[in-house]
Amino acid sequence: MTGTFLGMPAFPQAAAAALRDGRLRANLRHATHTIRDKRARAVAELDDWAELRAAGKAIKDHTLRHLDRYLVQLEEAVAAAGGAVHWAADAEEANRIVADLVHATGETEVVKVKSMATQEIGLNEALAAEGITAYETDLAELIVQLGDDRPSHILVPAIHRNRAEIREIFAERMAAWGRPAPADLTDSPAELAEAARLHLREKFLRARVAVSGANFMVAETGTLVVVESEGNGRMCLTLPRTLISVVGIEKVVPTWRDLEVFLQLLPRSSTAERMNPYTSLWTGLGPSKGADGDGPSAFHLVLLDNGRTTALADQVGRQALRCIRCSACLNVCPVYERAGGHAYGSVYPGPIGAILTPQLRGITSPVDASLPYASSLCGACYEVCPVAIDIPEVLVHLRERVAEQGGHPLERAAIAAAGYLFDHPAALAAAERLAGRTRALHPRRLPGPGRAWTDTRDLPQVPAEPFRDWWRRNRS
Ligand code: SF4
Repeated sequence: MTGTFLGMPAFPQAAAAALRDGRLRANLRHATHTIRDKRARAVAELDDWAELRAAGKAIKDHTLRHLDRYLVQLEEAVAAAGGAVHWAADAEEANRIVADLVHATGETEVVKVKSMATQEIGLNEALAAEGITAYETDLAELIVQLGDDRPSHILVPAIHRNRAEIREIFAERMAAWGRPAPADLTDSPAELAEAARLHLREKFLRARVAVSGANFMVAETGTLVVVESEGNGRMCLTLPRTLISVVGIEKVVPTWRDLEVFLQLLPRSSTAERMNPYTSLWTGLGPSKGADGDGPSAFHLVLLDNGRTTALADQVGRQALRCIRCSACLNVCPVYERAGGHAYGSVYPGPIGAILTPQLRGITSPVDASLPYASSLCGACYEVCPVAIDIPEVLVHLRERVAEQGGHPLERAAIAAAGYLFDHPAALAAAERLAGRTRALHPRRLPGPGRAWTDTRDLPQVPAEPFRDWWRRNRS
């Protein structure tokens, strides 16, 4: 992952700042509750949801176990269909490859389909440094780009903005990026959508290069799949002459039959729809092979690792690679609902971000080491996850890793003392008696790193008599 978000404060500080923003909390509460209720209704329509969920999990686990084989099969199939495959070990390499491909076309502009992978590698910034302007075409991504903002949700990147704010952004910023917003623009959804449509239309018609991600890649035929709701993706995938797709290696599925499972799981879990309004599929250059017919005349697939093989090596953490980016876990998370997406310091916010980012970026920076603690461990995320990622299990596992790399000296001393006492029953019994006799002297708040814990909780009182003494006196 790039350092796009690095340098941000750790989660507790970033979340504390977000909590003071009443408008942000109101926007988030309204949006997440609306989406989560709709999702619950869409899922309840299917009697076999549990079986679909189990199948999605099993397919992903199987694919991850044989990832090397399926990636090679995919590469061969894409090449046989007229596409070129490039392998990128990290963000820098992926950005270099894309920039070189765009330079080779002689163009200085690209249109983009909404893509988490390209945000993860900071592609827009890398292209800008090379003199190439990337235009986001997804409505929410457009709002984020025009507002010089950062996405705060996987599916609805501008979820932290309300209609009035969006109108303001369009009115003030659209002209700097192309066709201006109408002078009499109001905050009605239809008018805002129309302003975006007209603004984007000229870019679709002008663009010669498009950059996309993909939701899935089918190994057996080399087919890429993008699912979306607006149709902007379809325009990017078909109008430009060169298409460059940057896709994480975990997005591969073996067969079309496997794809069928995910095309049922994803729309209901993400937008609460029975099927996606636009499902675009392409195999290499397609039947026209780029001759006067439809579609690009050059297709490049950039397969991105960027920490994924490190995550794959972790037997507990690797389940995060099953994620299909539906964002259902964000919409039910009480922590996300209050803190918002920016507090996670990464393009992957919410529960999935708390387990994916530390695995992709490592846990050496304060923000990454704080992410596994950005959860109440209530388990709501696991309940709704369509591929049954046990997010609480991975959070606890990652907390262990953070603890192992060393915490506050007082915390380490307390854990070492506890370890000794639990290993020595006589010493534990003596410590309990001593604690009972000195209870009047105990502080009401913990010092050092424990202080944050007792800021919002009462420290339980030590009983005057240890349980084991009470038991001996009353029961023996
Ligand atoms: S972890 Fe599960 S619920 Fe969350 S975005 Fe990924 S697939 Fe969806």
